[in-house]
Amino acid sequence: MTEARVLADAPWLTSGPATRVLALLNGDGEEARVVGGAVRNALLKLPVVDVDIATTALPEEVTRRAQAAGIKSVPTGIEHGTVTLVVDKQPFEVTTLREDTETFGRKAKVAFGRDWVRDAERRDFTINGLSVDAEGVVHDYVGGLADIEARRVRFIGNADERIAEDYLRILRFFRIHATYGAGEPDRAGYLACIAGRAGLATLSAERVRMEMLKLMAADGAVASAVAMADGGLLGAIFGGVAYTGPFAAMIKLERLLGLSPDPIRRLGALGVAVTEDARRIAQRLRLTNAETKALDSIGHRWWRLADMDEATAKRRLYRLGEEAYRNRLLLAWARAGGADTPDWRQSATLPQRWSAPKFPLKAADFISRGIAEGPALGHVLTLAEDAWLAADFPLDEAALNNVADQTVSRFTRDHRL
Ligand code: ATP
Ligand code: MG
Repeated sequence: MTEARVLADAPWLTSGPATRVLALLNGDGEEARVVGGAVRNALLKLPVVDVDIATTALPEEVTRRAQAAGIKSVPTGIEHGTVTLVVDKQPFEVTTLREDTETFGRKAKVAFGRDWVRDAERRDFTINGLSVDAEGVVHDYVGGLADIEARRVRFIGNADERIAEDYLRILRFFRIHATYGAGEPDRAGYLACIAGRAGLATLSAERVRMEMLKLMAADGAVASAVAMADGGLLGAIFGGVAYTGPFAAMIKLERLLGLSPDPIRRLGALGVAVTEDARRIAQRLRLTNAETKALDSIGHRWWRLADMDEATAKRRLYRLGEEAYRNRLLLAWARAGGADTPDWRQSATLPQRWSAPKFPLKAADFISRGIAEGPALGHVLTLAEDAWLAADFPLDEAALNNVADQTVSRFTRDHRL
């Protein structure tokens, strides 16, 4: 199934630091090629981000050549045969060709090899199994070029077996399809993912988190999430319900408002109706503290951001701050169906039209009115802030004096001071 094709318009390959790394590693009986995602992206005319390189040379030889050429080398994954070379501040992961001898879940027993075909065959999907040499010739041993053409994400070899070797490939299947695929997910792959779903429980939370967050941000996230939910996979990951309707609506609304994709906000739409959902998902995916906080905030009483008049919306925005206001509002809107109506739009665009002023009254304003420092002062300030919000954020002196006077008289009356 070998097919030759030359990569055109690939300046990242034919000039610049990648060229230097390939030149360094080629020759004297060794060969190096660019592999994996960079080749796939170049063929799909998508930005090439990380350039991963595979070579027949052993890691010691890679290091030796780098040192001789004055190129920085870091043994970033020496147990897998990976050395990172840094050229013009750009890192290149250089990995010696490998062959799987045995696999136990993610812990494959790997031996170094010199066979490009076997290196391709141990990769996950055909579109990820291509390599390109320094001349730009694409080497395809797995039918990847045809699948790039069809935008089809297909396991290399037998899908059930490949999944049993590493259950993360289930999540990668949906994520890579959502990012690079088109149409329905490949049927054989999809069915194998469903059949193998119990294996997801064996994965580390960190690996699941990474894949799920990348999936959330993908252009085709909705179709993949629906397929996963239908196959019983999201329930297994979340340990709860997946809300694919609100998820689809959320992505539609982000686009409608010109917002960039926010993985945590999207995760909130997909998995969170109540704060208990947020806590469970944060724990299961071992989200970072900041991510956990954001997910929790989205799920906290989001329904209060529905059906607001402008004055109420302003008070909520003042209390919540822009980010929490926007995220909760979007969840409320998505959960209401996401229809583009003037009322929702009005609430959603409030942060662009209006910034909440700072509460202008100070402790001194109340001390001068006879309130003693201490708990009473704190209480009065809170009451005054409420009154100021209820009066629609006035800033002129007369109105502020009025708020202060009335708050103090109410407080002294209520507390019989
Ligand atoms: P992206 O960089 O867009 O996330 P990628 O395909 O480059 O996608 P990486 O995680 O960077 O993903 O992996 C690089 C390459 O390593 C892949 O293209 C694939 O060939 C191979 N690979 C990664 N993870 C696995 C896996 N779990 N099983 C088999 N091969 C894998
Ligand atoms: Mg990559």
